[in-house]
Amino acid sequence: MKVEVIGGGPAGLRASRLLAEMGHDVTLCEAGEIGDNVSCGEAYLNVYPEVERPRDGLIREYARVLHREDGREFQMDGRHIYQYDRGLMERGMRERAESVGVHIRENCMREKPSNDCLTVDASGFPSILYSPSDYDCGFAVSCLVAERTERMTFDWTDFGYYWSFPKREMTNAGFGVFRSPFKDVRGKAVRYSQNIGGIEKISGGFIPYSFDGALWNSEARTVLIGDAAGLCNSFHGGGIHTALLSANMVANTIDGLDRYQEELMGRMDDELQFAEVTSSFREDGRLGELIREDDNIRDVTHPSSFRKVSVFAKWKVPIF
Ligand SMILES: Cc1cc2nc3c(=O)[nH]c(=O)nc-3n(C[C@H](O)[C@H](O)[C@H](O)COP(=O)(O)OP(=O)(O)OC[C@H]3O[C@@H](n4cnc5c(N)ncnc54)[C@H](O)[C@@H]3O)c2cc1C
Repeated sequence: MKVEVIGGGPAGLRASRLLAEMGHDVTLCEAGEIGDNVSCGEAYLNVYPEVERPRDGLIREYARVLHREDGREFQMDGRHIYQYDRGLMERGMRERAESVGVHIRENCMREKPSNDCLTVDASGFPSILYSPSDYDCGFAVSCLVAERTERMTFDWTDFGYYWSFPKREMTNAGFGVFRSPFKDVRGKAVRYSQNIGGIEKISGGFIPYSFDGALWNSEARTVLIGDAAGLCNSFHGGGIHTALLSANMVANTIDGLDRYQEELMGRMDDELQFAEVTSSFREDGRLGELIREDDNIRDVTHPSSFRKVSVFAKWKVPIF
């Protein structure tokens, strides 16, 4: 089958490789250059063990991390976080895709899907097929800081989340919010990052965590994956793991894409239920209170720790 993949981020690169490996004739169109201008904290959460994590660009694996404000650490029962250089990650994914026959076209901005093939839309937020109002989004700003922090930090305040992830001799630090208007996110990211060191580069973008529409359109023969499908986690903003999961799912269901959305949502069920609870907390302002008042809630900084959080058990939410 002829397939056009739009977008050369993690979702598009993974989907194009898997489909080419299955014998499909795949072209990937990327508006810019693969691995350039990435805006990301560059942490990969291995939430879905069946999803092979990217091979290239790995900087460090955190098997036992959590630096919290009070300095305590705890063991993350078997789940790891990986810190990547995402430019290298994507260039490596590109090489692997090309090695199995994917035709890559850079500086190729696609405005609409082709009529004569299946289109996998991996164009990020918003999909070229939909408007921003079809999504719920957060917004995050990432700063590259010219000092190195020793530990990976992720935590919440009542108005958003912040991170600082060591990146070789530098630190990738930033700030994200999920409640619009996204007032002064850049300022907050800058103030937070300046505590670590001098800022070399600032970038930012939306975190789409919900999409109001069908992911597969059988008439137009288009399927959405990754951020284009609104798949980020609405608590910690991570979206690489779900971008890769959705790419795998498209490949798995390519002979019957009417199953794609249901199977993907089924696999993401725990993540989605958790998202629902945390968004309701956020909407009525309880998330901040809970984070401040309940010491346990501070453990909610990685999926693996979610099970330990008694306050969520009250809402009977199975988490990861
Ligand atoms: C500041 C920030 C920090 C983040 N930190 C993390 C993190 O630490 N960990 C994590 O897991 N997630 C993080 N995320 C989210 C993560 O970056 C995304 O979920 C992930 O990039 C989604 O991958 P994707 O392939 O779906 O989309 P993208 O990575 O957005 O790739 C889409 C690609 O499509 C291309 N494109 C767009 N339009 C067109 C067009 N018309 N024609 C051709 N090409 C087009 C774009 O140039 C882009 O290369 C962060 C996001 C932001 C903004």
